[in-house]
Amino acid sequence: MQSFNTQFKDKKSLKDFISSNSINKSKNILVQIFSGVIDEKKSLDLSSTIKELLPDANIIGTTTSGEICLGKVYANTVTISFSIFESTIVKSNFYNLDDNFKLSDVVNDLITDDTKVLIIFSDGLKSNAEKLLKDIYTLKQEAVIAGGRAGDNNNFKKTYVFDEKNYSENGCVIATLNSKELIVNNDYILNWTPIGKDMTVTKVDNNILYELDGIPILDIYRKYLGNDAVKNLPESAMEFPLIIKKDDIYIARDPIVKMEDDSLMFAGNFEEGDSVRFSFGNIEEISGDVGNYFNEFSKFPAESIFVYSCSARKALMGGKLDDELNILESLAHTSGFFTYGEYFHTSNIIELLNVTTTFLALSESSTVKKRVLKKTKVQSVDVVKKALTHLVKVTTQELEHISTHDTLTALYNRSEYIKRVCLKIKGAQRYKEKFGLMLIDIDHFKLINDNYGHAVGDEILKKLADALVSNVREDDLVARWGGEEFVIIVNYATVNILEKLAKKLQKKIAEVDFSPVNRVTVSFGLSVYVDGDTEETLFKRVDNALYAAKNSGRNCYVVG
Ligand code: GH3
Ligand code: MG
Ligand code: MG
Repeated sequence: MQSFNTQFKDKKSLKDFISSNSINKSKNILVQIFSGVIDEKKSLDLSSTIKELLPDANIIGTTTSGEICLGKVYANTVTISFSIFESTIVKSNFYNLDDNFKLSDVVNDLITDDTKVLIIFSDGLKSNAEKLLKDIYTLKQEAVIAGGRAGDNNNFKKTYVFDEKNYSENGCVIATLNSKELIVNNDYILNWTPIGKDMTVTKVDNNILYELDGIPILDIYRKYLGNDAVKNLPESAMEFPLIIKKDDIYIARDPIVKMEDDSLMFAGNFEEGDSVRFSFGNIEEISGDVGNYFNEFSKFPAESIFVYSCSARKALMGGKLDDELNILESLAHTSGFFTYGEYFHTSNIIELLNVTTTFLALSESSTVKKRVLKKTKVQSVDVVKKALTHLVKVTTQELEHISTHDTLTALYNRSEYIKRVCLKIKGAQRYKEKFGLMLIDIDHFKLINDNYGHAVGDEILKKLADALVSNVREDDLVARWGGEEFVIIVNYATVNILEKLAKKLQKKIAEVDFSPVNRVTVSFGLSVYVDGDTEETLFKRVDNALYAAKNSGRNCYVVG
C-alpha cells in the first residue's frame, strides 16, 4: 500500500496531485478528509469533487481540532490522506446515529470474513461514542478499531462527520479494510500522571458525571482547579483529565460539555464505583521516552500510519507533540487529526480513550524496513514548566505515601487497609480468589509502656512491624490497624495456611531481640473470606477470634 497526504489548496492542485501520484489508477482507495474548516458546503463540495475524480474511492471525513500531515501539526486547514491498497478491499458508509441506526446495517454494508480494521469517525459532542464502540466491537471482535470523535477547534459547539453526500452533527462514518494479507498494528501513548487523591464515582449516567465522593462535580472542579477553571469549563479542564485505573491501564476522561444542571458530559463513560484521580501531562516523561517508543514501534512493518490524537494533548504539549509525531513519521508517512476522543481496540483493550495519541500502522508487505529516527529541531525546554511538573510529581508521591502509611511503623494505615480489603473482596467475588485475614494484638502491651516508658513501647511496635513484614509474602499486605494491633491480608489463604503462618510468626517474634524487654508475645485472630462477606463481617470474625485468643490465655491463635 501507499499513502499520499496533502493539504487542500484548490481544485486544480488537487487534481494535479491525484494524477501525478497515479492515485486514479487504483481501485482500492481510502480517502480520509480532516477538516479544520467547519463548513458544510465546502466539505461536501470537496468530497464530491474527489468522488468525481476517483469514482472508486471510499471517502470518510471529519471536522477537527487540528490536522496532522506528514508529521506536522496544522490548524484550520484541510488535510487529505489518500491510501491506495494492492489487495485490501476498502468499504465505507455513513450512518445517522438516531433511533433508526441498526448495527445489522453496518454488518451488511461493511463487514466481511476478512475485515481486519474498522476506522470510525463520529461526531464529537452528541452521540455516545463509548456505546458505539462497544456495539461495533461485537460485530467483528478480532478486528482492530481506530479513529476518533470529530473536533471543532476546541469551540465545543458543533462537530461533524461527512462523506460525499452526508454531513452530520449526530452520526458516524465507518471504513473497513478487508484483507488476508494486511498487517495491522495499533498502540497509544498517554504519559499522563495521576495527581491528588482517589475519588469514587458516586453518581453517573454513562458519560454524564454528577458526583464524586457524594460531592457535586462542579464543586470538585472548583475545589481542585479553582473558580476561574469552573467558569471556563470544559476548555480549562482539558489538560487535567480524570484518570480511571482499570487493571494496569490508565484511561483518561476529559469533560466536553458543561450541562445546564451543572453536571459535566465527558468524552467517555464512567461506572459507579470507578476510582478516579485528576492527572496532568508529565512533560518530563513524555520527552524522555521518545527513543524507547521509537525502538518499540520500529519492530513492526509500516507503509502508512494514521494518527488520531487528542485535542487536549495538543493543547498541553504544544511543540512537544512534534517529538511524538516525529517518531511515527520516521516509521512511515503519517496523517490524522486531533479528536474529542480516540477509538481504540486491540487484543486486551476496548476503550474510548482521551488525551492519548493513538496510531494505526498498516502494511501489505511483511518486510520490516530499517529506519532511523529523524532528527528534529531541538525543542526549547520550558525550564519552569518542567521543574513545576517535577515538583508536582514528587510532592504527589510524598503525599500519597503519607496518606496511605503509618508514620511510626511505616506500615500501611487503616484506611489503606480498608481500601485494599474491599478491592480484595471484589476480586474474590469475581475471580473466586481465596484470601484470609490475620488480626494481631500485642499481649499486655500496657505493662511494657508502664514499666519501660512510651519510647521503648514505640521501638517494640517498630520491631514487631518489621518482623511481620519480613515473614509474610511480598504481595501480602501488613497494616497497622491502630495502637498495638496489626492486620494482615494473606493472599490465597486457607485456614490451614493461616494457622501455619500464625505459628511461623509466633516463632519468629520469639526470636526478635526486644531488649530491654525480655519477652514480647502476641495473640492472633484468623479467618478466611467466605462468599457474601463484607469488609465489616470479615473483620468482625477475626476480631471475635482475637478476643477469644486473649481469653484463652494469650500467645496463641483462634480461628473465627
Ligand atoms: P491485652 O493483652 O489484653 O491486649 O493487653 P494490652 O495491655 O496490650 O491492651 P490494652 O488495650 O489495655 O493496652 C494497649 C496499650 O497500647 C495502651 C496504649 O497506651 C498503648 N499504645 C497504643 N498505641 C501506642 C503507640 O503508638 N505507642 C506506644 N508506646 N503505646 C501505644
Ligand atoms: Mg489492643
Ligand atoms: Mg494488647
